[in-house]
Amino acid sequence: MEKKNALLLWFETINRNDVDVVGGKSASLGEMTSQTAVPVPYGFATTAYAYRYFMKKSGLNKKISELLNQLTDVENGPQLRQISQKIRTAIMAEEMPADIAEAIRNAYHDLGEKKGETTPFVAVRSSATAEDLPDASFAGQQETYLNVCGAEDVITKVKECYASTFTDRAVYYRTKQGFDHLDVALSAVIQMMVFSKAAGVMFTVNVATGDDTHILIEAAWGLGEYVVQGMVTPDSYLIDKKTLRIDKHTINEKKIQFVRMPDGGCEEKLVPTDLIDAAVLTPKQVCELAEYALSIEKHYGCYMDIEWGIDERTNQLWILQARPETVWSWRNKETIQKTAKELESNNKKREVLVKGMPASPGLISGIARVICNPSMIDQFKDGEILVTEMTAPDWVPVMKKAKAIVTDAGGMTCHASIVSRELGIPCVVGTKSCGIAGTLGIKNNTVITVDAAHGIVYAGNLIKPDEQNEKTVQQNVTQSETFPVTGTKIYMNLGDPDLAEKYSTLPCDGIGLMREEFIWTTYIHEHPLYMIEDGRAQEAIDKLAEGMQKVCQAMSLRPVTLRFSDFKSSEYRDLKGGDKYEPHEPSALLGWRGASRYYDPKYTEAFKLEIKAIKKVREEYGLTNLHVMIPFCRSVEEARKVTALMAAEGLQRGPDFKVWLMAEIPANIILADQFNQFVDGYSIGSNDLTMLILGCDRDNDTISHLFDERNLAVKRAIRHLIDTAHKDGKTVSLCGQAPSVYPDFTEFLIHSGIDSISVNPDMVGQTKKNVAQLEQRIMLESLTGRGRIDKEDYTW
Ligand code: PEP
Ligand code: MG
Repeated sequence: MEKKNALLLWFETINRNDVDVVGGKSASLGEMTSQTAVPVPYGFATTAYAYRYFMKKSGLNKKISELLNQLTDVENGPQLRQISQKIRTAIMAEEMPADIAEAIRNAYHDLGEKKGETTPFVAVRSSATAEDLPDASFAGQQETYLNVCGAEDVITKVKECYASTFTDRAVYYRTKQGFDHLDVALSAVIQMMVFSKAAGVMFTVNVATGDDTHILIEAAWGLGEYVVQGMVTPDSYLIDKKTLRIDKHTINEKKIQFVRMPDGGCEEKLVPTDLIDAAVLTPKQVCELAEYALSIEKHYGCYMDIEWGIDERTNQLWILQARPETVWSWRNKETIQKTAKELESNNKKREVLVKGMPASPGLISGIARVICNPSMIDQFKDGEILVTEMTAPDWVPVMKKAKAIVTDAGGMTCHASIVSRELGIPCVVGTKSCGIAGTLGIKNNTVITVDAAHGIVYAGNLIKPDEQNEKTVQQNVTQSETFPVTGTKIYMNLGDPDLAEKYSTLPCDGIGLMREEFIWTTYIHEHPLYMIEDGRAQEAIDKLAEGMQKVCQAMSLRPVTLRFSDFKSSEYRDLKGGDKYEPHEPSALLGWRGASRYYDPKYTEAFKLEIKAIKKVREEYGLTNLHVMIPFCRSVEEARKVTALMAAEGLQRGPDFKVWLMAEIPANIILADQFNQFVDGYSIGSNDLTMLILGCDRDNDTISHLFDERNLAVKRAIRHLIDTAHKDGKTVSLCGQAPSVYPDFTEFLIHSGIDSISVNPDMVGQTKKNVAQLEQRIMLESLTGRGRIDKEDYTW
């Protein structure tokens, strides 16, 4: 019988090309069993064909379609929950067709016979396949049932795996993405249970640093679930790939373990006192695991993420799962790190020109174009490296042509950092305060190498062409990778409308911050008041609307939050005709910006252009996924004035149109209970908020080491805002750079109960994965009743 028409397949007949037949997880277990010598617990997998056959024969296809037709609004939580639950109940209520049940029964007994046990304990796992869908992870919840015993129980668990195709989150995701729910199919893996006395994970790249000369092994007592979910701090080992020597190890305190119970099921138990601080692995076992890791990596030809376990009865080591590692491969960091490390170790031979802060990762070489005066900007050619004192919003068109950017001034939240992250090009900022300014240390028209992973610029071309780290974000987009669905929405920061189409395939839930300034600098280039005076107000409205339309269309149904203009006077002045209208302010960052302009008679006509453009997009183009956000709003009175003005111009909050406030001034937090009445919620601008809480000019490289969003004062403010907003049913998001620069900051936000996070395009995938893991951990914590204790005191 052809594989695609089989009801189930044994591991030795499956290989990695069978993803559409048995899903990713089963295909990987089959590949290792049939093509390598690593020890994999034996088993079989039901096929996608069997799933479809079950759905058709039972009439579930029709029933499910009917139920899904009743889902009129996927955003309606109770409705979504009720319908998904009905579908799962319907699946569980159906008998497994006799031929599938018989095939599972027979295979289960054969498995027992082969292993010398009449009713073996097995693990049943779901393995999702989704034909034609770029992301299979939402197809099922990747359910795993451990320690299952008896053929009938196995059949029930297979049905439970099937039902997991219709969890609330999976239904929500597919509906939002416009995917057909019945295109998804599920395979169930039935595999001999490893009675793990210890288990863990290993990676063939150090996931913390990207160093691929070592294998990282993590180990804890009991089953591996608690290591994967981060419930225990495991022992860790770094093993040199060449010598298999343990270069570093840390033995941690492991107080709890997740163990199988003799009669089925699994439970959390305390680790016996004498084992809490004991090493889980012997040096010999570490070495054996490392050897398996190496052979798996060699076989697949890429970094691997592997799960393993040690059977308590035989002490045998088993490989339970292996999949390509995603974070480092995905971000193309291996090349960056490897080459950067080589560069570093050869530093003596290399000529370091300047050092600075690594603002946007990447490694590249090219011709340096040193622009000391904005009037020289026309000299910049496509594909050169831009070296300048500091970029400004009206430089974006030039920055889009640059291969990399090096600036004298600025910190991690300056204009150059933000834009290069969005463009996906390497960027080093603040060279001046790290020794020599880039514009002095780098000679115009010479070849340089920018190592933006470490913030170093070298003379000459030190990298081979195939190691050039170009277009990392674009590579990310085209990778067919799987992403989990998260309860916390993950939005993307995107300003440049021309990038919207390219990034639209990233797994984000919408645009959390679209800085309007980008539309002015990409399409308009002229000061709004100058255009009004020149009789070209309509032209400005049309161009603004065009930019917004591009983004809203690219994101299809996903929401787009446009932030009203937040140029500073120094930046407005650079727009054509701006000189006449802009004051010279001693500190523009603290000056005439954001909300203070909108109701000011000197500027309000320009603000009305913004409102008209938004109305045009929503009303004329019908793109009602466009919402707005008010930046830099200093007082409750300002919030009142601006929202009243908007309403007078026909932009009023409603179920279909949301108005957000940037929470980026301490006053927004302290008086959140009063701001609440004017808005649907907040997006925290951690860049400005940190500046204003810590008194650190965000663009001043001299004190950039003092600028840190992770400061307890900032964290307390964020916690307080979330609590105060939630009391009135308002939502809170965050769109500053912090979670893009410090992925661990995301953990704090999730634990604080944030509703969504908006990150740079290059961090969307990784953040999605981090958040999914964190959410799962929090759910487990609540199920086991073990609340998490905050490391710091966030009491306001
Ligand atoms: C912020 O302040 O964190 C923010 C996102 O806005 P901007 O960086 O544009 O000031
Ligand atoms: Mg801001």
